[in-house]
Amino acid sequence: MFFLIGGIQPRTTTVDDTPRLCSHCGLAQARLKRIDHYLSLFFIPLFPVKRGEPVVICDRCGAVSPPEQPMGRHPLAGGSGRDRCARCGAPVEADFRYCPHCGAPT
Ligand SMILES: [Zn+2]
Ligand SMILES: [Zn+2]
Repeated sequence: MFFLIGGIQPRTTTVDDTPRLCSHCGLAQARLKRIDHYLSLFFIPLFPVKRGEPVVICDRCGAVSPPEQPMGRHPLAGGSGRDRCARCGAPVEADFRYCPHCGAPT
């Protein structure tokens, strides 16, 4: 056994420091975080073994909620940010003019 004092430890990383409204207590003290799981030895995280999904965690009450979906954006509208191909659904960078997967114009 090599990892007698090692193990898998959760580690919270702040993805976005912008305060968000907490749906639980109503205060803008929730932030977008991600809980990664690190392989640790002697309580020192060595490397991530599992990347968590981003979640919104409130600093005040500790409520965990799923990240809000962008509202009012038509899936076929295109434009800003990262997008998806309307034909095949592959993720396409915003500055790509054509889908690298199926060639459809974005
Ligand atoms: Zn809260
Ligand atoms: Zn495509």
